[in-house]
Amino acid sequence: MREKILALEKIAASLEPSNSERKHFQNLTNDYSNRFLNQIDSCKAFEETEEKGIGIYDFPISEKPKNFETLLNVIEKEVDFPGLNPASGGHLAYIPGGGIFPSALGDYLADVTNNFAGMFFAAPGAVRMENQLIRWMCDIMGFDNEKAGGNLTSGGSIANLTAIVTARDASKIEAKDFHKSVIYATKQTHHSIQKAIRIAGLKEAILRYVEMDEGFRINAKKLEKQIQEDKNAGLLPIIVIASAGTTDVGAVDPIDKIANICSSENVWLHVDGAYGGFFILCDEVKSKFKGIEKADSITIDPHKGLFLPYGTGAVLIKNRSHLYHSHYYKASYLRDVETSAEEFSPADLSPELTKHFRGLRMWLPLQLFGLKPFKAALSEKIYLARYFYERIKEMPNFEVGSFPELSVTYFRYVPENENANDFNNKLVEAIRIDGRIFLSSTTIDEKVYIRLAVLCFRSHLKTIDLALEVIKDLIEKLK
Ligand SMILES: *Cc1c(COP(=O)(O)O)cnc(C)c1O
Repeated sequence: MREKILALEKIAASLEPSNSERKHFQNLTNDYSNRFLNQIDSCKAFEETEEKGIGIYDFPISEKPKNFETLLNVIEKEVDFPGLNPASGGHLAYIPGGGIFPSALGDYLADVTNNFAGMFFAAPGAVRMENQLIRWMCDIMGFDNEKAGGNLTSGGSIANLTAIVTARDASKIEAKDFHKSVIYATKQTHHSIQKAIRIAGLKEAILRYVEMDEGFRINAKKLEKQIQEDKNAGLLPIIVIASAGTTDVGAVDPIDKIANICSSENVWLHVDGAYGGFFILCDEVKSKFKGIEKADSITIDPHKGLFLPYGTGAVLIKNRSHLYHSHYYKASYLRDVETSAEEFSPADLSPELTKHFRGLRMWLPLQLFGLKPFKAALSEKIYLARYFYERIKEMPNFEVGSFPELSVTYFRYVPENENANDFNNKLVEAIRIDGRIFLSSTTIDEKVYIRLAVLCFRSHLKTIDLALEVIKDLIEKLK
């Protein structure tokens, strides 16, 4: 038996590379990532390829070890090259991502140490770090940290789901009442909310789309009237979803008015600020967030508004005990794990137990750079969207949407003798194939519009000038 065990140990030993092997891998990885970053400004924002990474399948998972350099080449050719390049400043579609470098180092360290950030007992410092980040975000939103709490999630969708589950439980409705329960949103509400409602078991609930004003914001009067009508009809209004920046057009709902209605009608207010939440840090638009501190829950997405790489969202709950009530756990195999009165454990405030120590990728850059450059970059994005809006508005045959509230703007080209929708579909496709910048489209009142969303920290004035140039070029070609 001992011999057998030792023989297995020997084979398994390659799972632990030596100091010099580690250095070799680190050097290769560093060279590759530096090369990637040094070229980022000249890379396309979108690479349309025939193969679309199909070569990955030439490297099946097998018994055979492979060479690190070979694998990096596969990653470069098959993974990093084709499709969208979210690290590029030219990514101006959907809601662009980020990828600030120190986050990668934070991830690296979190992976090497493999801290168990789910429980205070196991990794007190790591849990305090995540709690510090949650408290900082609660502070920004004006929540009282004595009572508030939250969780670092993998993204905005899971944050929305966590909030909906918490709101469902806090409203004390039972399954037999689900079909009478009403949730209020608008046609602009992000689809992750509908998904969350369904996953939370509330698919029988009534989802009301409230009327919007001309700027695609909730009409608060209509909302109030609808809630009262529903109550009179014997229904149970439970949740209102407001958006602090819709994904589609960047609209910010009148949060203060909505919050007052929710508080007098005793309905849970969830504010989805996945895209726009961190703009509260900018004096230019801060007033739009008035009343957000009255919300019951808020979603924000550090992998959008703080330029982090993908993988970090956050849910903030004004009354932490609701979050705890919906997510705490007890397991007999964890009987030695004490719940601490000193600090809450993420595992008690989320569906996860074992999780990535995602606090470090956020904490490290915030500490290293300080808040100032983050705020400046956010303000820069606001002005870039306004700059684009002013320029495109002056160009012949362009129609623009309303003045950008945050950093999303939309426009369409109306050709003289061609169907406008067909033309704009062709235009957005031509932009993708050209690849220097990447834009996406949407439909508003059955009209196709092209969106320009500025949120990548690498998008600057020269990027927007390039976008204007690309659009002009391609219109000439299409005409
Ligand atoms: C992006 C977004 C989401 C979803 O967040 P993910 O991080 O992509 O899961 C939800 N709501 C809004 C308004 C968003 O912009």
